[in-house]
Amino acid sequence: MKKRILLLAGGQSGEHEVSLMSARSVLAALPVDQFDVTPVVISKEGRWLPPTQTQHALESGVADSGGDLVLHRAASAEGYDAVFPILHGPMGEDGTVQGLLTLAGIPFVGSGVLGSAVSMDKVMTKQVLASAGIAQVAWRLAVRRDWHDRPDTVRQSAQELGFPLFVKPANLGSSVGISKVHGSDELDNALTLAFSLDRRVILEAMTAHKPREVEVGILGNDAPIASPVGELRFSAEFYDYETKYTEGRATMHIPAPLPAEVAAQVREQALRAFRALDCAGLARVDFFYVEETGEVLLNEVNTMPGFTTTSMYPKLFEAAGLSYSDLVARLVELALERR
Ligand code: ATP
Ligand code: MG
Ligand code: MG
Ligand code: MG
Repeated sequence: MKKRILLLAGGQSGEHEVSLMSARSVLAALPVDQFDVTPVVISKEGRWLPPTQTQHALESGVADSGGDLVLHRAASAEGYDAVFPILHGPMGEDGTVQGLLTLAGIPFVGSGVLGSAVSMDKVMTKQVLASAGIAQVAWRLAVRRDWHDRPDTVRQSAQELGFPLFVKPANLGSSVGISKVHGSDELDNALTLAFSLDRRVILEAMTAHKPREVEVGILGNDAPIASPVGELRFSAEFYDYETKYTEGRATMHIPAPLPAEVAAQVREQALRAFRALDCAGLARVDFFYVEETGEVLLNEVNTMPGFTTTSMYPKLFEAAGLSYSDLVARLVELALERR
């Protein structure tokens, strides 16, 4: 019998549009002889859109307002064998939707509440990974209240890290709200932007040399496997939103041309991070490799990475011999196994 899959896409975060792109690819790839897929687009206001509006949103990339409140729709998810929440960022990749589906008793693709929430928050991730002995850049946490009441303590944190540094909303993705700050004159604008998107903001030191950016895919539940390592190259100052989503701005190299021991270290650390964070199903783990010093630093873990047919995660597993549609089918299998 065909498995009935509810595919959730869109969502309330700054990565709404990216999610719609991923969802279109997944929809096209789920083998029709095995799966009966119903897409539901979640609007930016958090409403679950009915079929015609969902179809329109998928086709046009723009979601209308309207639709039902999430709690009204959760119960109707009961008729499905599994949910594929192809949602990026807060209210989707951060444990909220995962909590709803857990309460409703419906299996879903990807990490559960704990792994999703901890991995979404860059500060929590760094704390957990530090205790697992994984090397990372130096960082400081700042909360919005401090920025309003005691901005000098936040500026002090930045001085301690030194410039250039990165300012990021702690819970976001696709580089939304991220600034590279070259000196104290650029700091306040960067903090204002990041705090407009999140209550929690992370300040991160930059490596002494411009790092190479390498990524690895992890697939599995309690016995996960690592893909080959991939590398991103681009001429922008950092991997910002435009560089990520404008055709031709970045190139992907799979496998990354790395010394064998560096690639082995990246894969081993990615698996260690996946376990330490209690991830499940899939994750893409991003690293900085500083060629000059040989340092491998873990940057972050994405529990629902970009998933178009040209995205890094599916490409990494394709290089390992798993086609896009086999990968999607495997993820559904992993969701059902975890029950
Ligand atoms: P994703 O879309 O992968 O979820 P994200 O929004 O979570 O991305 P990061 O991966 O944390 O953001 O950072 C985006 C980019 O900014 C990195 O790929 C890198 O180019 C640059 N960057 C971030 N932090 C640092 C750092 N500490 N040192 C050097 N470059 C950095
Ligand atoms: Mg991220
Ligand atoms: Mg992400
Ligand atoms: Mg990243």
